[in-house]
Amino acid sequence: MNYDVVIVGAGLAGLQCAKLLARRDAKVLLVDRKSDLTAGVHTTGIFVRKTLEDFDFPAGTLGRAVRDVSLYSPRLKRIDLASDKDEFRVGKMGTLYRSMLDESVDSGVEFMSGTRYVSATGAQASRLRNINVKLEKEGKALEVHTKVLIGADGARSRVARDLGLDENSEWIVGYEEVFQSKGVEEPRLHCFLDAKLAPGYLAWIADDGEEIHIGVGGYPADFNPREALRSFKDKTRCLIDLTNSELTESRGGRIPVGGVLRRIACERGLLIGDAAGAVSPLTAGGLDPALRLSKFAAEVVSRRLATNDPRVLSSYSGELFRARFVSRLWMRRIIKSFSNQALLEASFAILRTRVGSSFAKHVFFGRGSFPDVEELGVVAAFRPEG
Ligand SMILES: Cc1cc2nc3c(=O)[nH]c(=O)nc-3n(C[C@H](O)[C@H](O)[C@H](O)COP(=O)(O)OP(=O)(O)OC[C@H]3O[C@@H](n4cnc5c(N)ncnc54)[C@H](O)[C@@H]3O)c2cc1C
Repeated sequence: MNYDVVIVGAGLAGLQCAKLLARRDAKVLLVDRKSDLTAGVHTTGIFVRKTLEDFDFPAGTLGRAVRDVSLYSPRLKRIDLASDKDEFRVGKMGTLYRSMLDESVDSGVEFMSGTRYVSATGAQASRLRNINVKLEKEGKALEVHTKVLIGADGARSRVARDLGLDENSEWIVGYEEVFQSKGVEEPRLHCFLDAKLAPGYLAWIADDGEEIHIGVGGYPADFNPREALRSFKDKTRCLIDLTNSELTESRGGRIPVGGVLRRIACERGLLIGDAAGAVSPLTAGGLDPALRLSKFAAEVVSRRLATNDPRVLSSYSGELFRARFVSRLWMRRIIKSFSNQALLEASFAILRTRVGSSFAKHVFFGRGSFPDVEELGVVAAFRPEG
């Protein structure tokens, strides 16, 4: 029951970090309250080009490539954006989680499913003493000991609170249904601006010829996601008729959009993925940040284990990344303020101009991603020797 690292949460962030740490010979325990990682998936799972280029995905875990995007105004005026590159792929998330778990276990990770993280004691002490982590499995209390505790437990992280780190406070919520596609020649992502059905964000239909994801996202105080999705399906019936399509899943959850949190590490542990607020405030994409930040976290933690110097963790700071998100945070504020349909319709007219459409192309097809630490030039910052 003694580990180098305990990771709470086996979403994309936790799985990636666990695998990388085990490959560096750390003794890792990964726990998740779910008894089956393929159940209760909450994300649409759209991966962008840069992620697809920079990371390996196990075979059979991605849908067909999407090159075409249509953007709609509240009155369903439409702009088509086409790319000559494969811009997006929708992940088959259940299969992806299972494959990543297999890779982690093959690399030496010990995994406990159906195991809830309850609390940690000694988590805020700054000496070298191990942290006692309280877990619960099938109603039974368990205690394990670890040098480092990692919170990969999503947007409302209990680990963040127990480590005394920053917690997310601004969210949008997303809710979608997944249907079997009747097959399309060209996969397409349809995005809809609508201040009532998707206040402060977007509604979407992604049809890659295998699955159709139809969903709405917005600020929770301003709409009821289930009712909004019902109205959205009615509104878009002329575009996508789902009458004879089989509903396979409903998905939903919170998406933190306040930007990377400032304090995401202390000498006892750190946060990754949604728990660290690592989501683009503009697009609400969190899959690329989950992979990249977890890679950085694994490097820092393995250095902490190699040096036995807990101060190494403190240099894993959200401040390294926040500067890169200033413009996206401003754009989020602007989008949030578009609270009526007339204003959105007028802004859409600007997107139909040449400048507007090249801006839209930049947002949808730009090679933006969460910054790599190498790119930020901060690798030396977490070397204890300086
Ligand atoms: C509806 C919706 C659609 C989205 N679509 C996209 C998209 O298309 N593209 C994109 O880039 N991003 C998208 N996002 C955002 C993206 O899904 C997340 O940013 C990403 O999945 C975060 O991964 P994570 O591993 O940090 O957290 P999660 O996937 O939330 O994983 C957290 C894990 O922790 C476990 N856990 C939580 N608490 C405990 C506990 N106390 N004990 C044990 N286990 C615990 C949970 O069971 C879960 O498995 C979407 C989000 C939503 C809600």
